[in-house]
Amino acid sequence: MSGAFVGIHTGSFSTPAAGNPTVVMVEAAYRHHGIDARYLNCEVGPGDLGDAVSGARAMGWAGFNCSLPHKVAVIDHLDLLSESAEVIGAVNTVVATDGDLVGHNTDGQGFVTSLRTVIDPRGLQVVLLGAGGAARAVAVETALAGASSITVVNRNERRGAELARVVTEGTGVEARFVPWDRPFEVPGGVDVLVNATSVGYGDADVLPEVDLASLHGGLVVADVVVSPPRTALLRAASAAGATVLDGLGMLVGQGALAVQLWTGVEPDREVMRAAAADALGL
Ligand code: NDP
Repeated sequence: MSGAFVGIHTGSFSTPAAGNPTVVMVEAAYRHHGIDARYLNCEVGPGDLGDAVSGARAMGWAGFNCSLPHKVAVIDHLDLLSESAEVIGAVNTVVATDGDLVGHNTDGQGFVTSLRTVIDPRGLQVVLLGAGGAARAVAVETALAGASSITVVNRNERRGAELARVVTEGTGVEARFVPWDRPFEVPGGVDVLVNATSVGYGDADVLPEVDLASLHGGLVVADVVVSPPRTALLRAASAAGATVLDGLGMLVGQGALAVQLWTGVEPDREVMRAAAADALGL
């Protein structure tokens, strides 16, 4: 670190901003690689988002993350969108590129990077529980990574059907919607089951409504929930012999891609994972 001058400014705009594990994770990567950069965690309410983006632009920030509730609203303040952010309809990472602020979505790519540590999604049948922001990012990127089909299982029919339509029209991969009105039985032939709902967040014992007898050793079961990472679904899947993947891998993946976009350095994911786990008190 040069000490007196800070070369690269990055940060996060969200509310509530407190407790965001990305701050500690990204700063750990900067320190580990000796990158002369800072990551500022900023409390920004919906009415101030435009001013915050103008401020980052005026101060020459390399970029910033947008978390809840700004992932969709920030698009109005940007110059360009990456192809997948356009399809997903949400941005979590903004990068200053040749004078333009470009919106990316690294959530889904972070998931795919994490998934690839256990299986290549090409040609696989993928089932997603949920149709919210995380599910949209995961569904679109998994389709773009070559999955052969995506099934969206969701309580709210409008949201679920809309996500299936977005995936089919935006990626060309066959997607269908299944209403979630009874315990979901994983059909034979499915390769990957992803819990992309918020069920399990903050409660290690709550399970999404899945018929546990339909879990088996040939499945990969992934969860986007980060806290706690060892969810009841992953424990049940492990007990059934399935390969499991926790949400921390996705969190680290999205943060690592953002660091790379802002600084050009491919950061050490193990350093970031350890810092994120520490920040979450794991
Ligand atoms: P949203 O509020 O956008 O979506 C929530 C989804 O969960 C909806 O599909 C909703 O269904 C579903 N849901 C909520 N409660 C239930 C329930 N009891 N039974 C069935 N479905 C339910 O949230 P996000 O998509 O933004 O976040 C979802 C999770 O992903 C959170 O835990 C978040 O922390 C995590 N996340 C993890 C990331 C990572 O890097 N690992 C990145 C981003 C998010 P319905 O539409 O029917 O209401």
